Amino acid sequence: MSEELLEQIDRLIQKRPMYKETLTVYRDLMSFLNDIEPEIKYEPADELVHDIKMKEGFPLFSREDLPVDLKAASSLYHRLLEHLCSRKRKDREGLEKALTVAQADPNWIRSVIAASLSGDEAATVNMAQEVNLEPVVLRFLTHMALRPSLNTLKESYSGRIQNDRWDYGYCPLCGSSPDVAYLNEEGKRFLHCELCGYEWYYQRLKCPFCENNEPEELGYFVSEEEEGFRVDFCKKCNRYVKTLDKRVIVSLVPLELENLVTLHLDILAHEQGFKAPHG
Ligand SMILES: [Zn+2]
Ligand SMILES: [Zn+2]
Repeated sequence: MSEELLEQIDRLIQKRPMYKETLTVYRDLMSFLNDIEPEIKYEPADELVHDIKMKEGFPLFSREDLPVDLKAASSLYHRLLEHLCSRKRKDREGLEKALTVAQADPNWIRSVIAASLSGDEAATVNMAQEVNLEPVVLRFLTHMALRPSLNTLKESYSGRIQNDRWDYGYCPLCGSSPDVAYLNEEGKRFLHCELCGYEWYYQRLKCPFCENNEPEELGYFVSEEEEGFRVDFCKKCNRYVKTLDKRVIVSLVPLELENLVTLHLDILAHEQGFKAPHG
């Protein structure tokens, strides 16, 4: 991980001490990701076929068939789990149990990853219960473990995405929903993919989840604690997306990290009756 990112995370820990544990874990785990070189086996379809599919709203890959390196992801998952077991955490017992299960059954981690990718919420919850962990912990580790593969995919294939033709609320690369959004210096909105981290332009006055564009059914509230963050919501489908306004704050940390350290906004949104943006 770059020195720069390390410094940014340290600054963020100072600024938001309530997220110290989350940020420290993120920083620690990121350092494991550096030396992984995933093998991506994928024969790209004809460019013309891709173009036609994308025009019809099909992302480049679907989550279930993402050509990720499952072997590399599983062994990385194992190492991340081992690392977390060595920390003083409230859920250490659950983590140790997960490690024991993973050691006894080499396919367990693969099943956890597969459940996350196919969006099989029930299976994720079951496997989390089996080891007394919160499902969010399994999902977080899956995202981290897949990161090297997803980064390679992004680098190799994002050139095939014609951004100006993509007018959908899901990721053009992997089909996932956005977890956060940002407004750029010109006030244009970009959505950030919750899985692969790809960013794409999307109209401001349109709900990414149900495509509702009635102005009176769309709205946002702002964070009192912090300038530059808002929560855009849709009264039709009751979903929301947290939005970082780059005209107000200069954020240098990755958006996925901004997402992790703005959980207070999710709590506010849930209190107002809005549902989680994805899942
Ligand atoms: Zn994506
Ligand atoms: Zn909606």
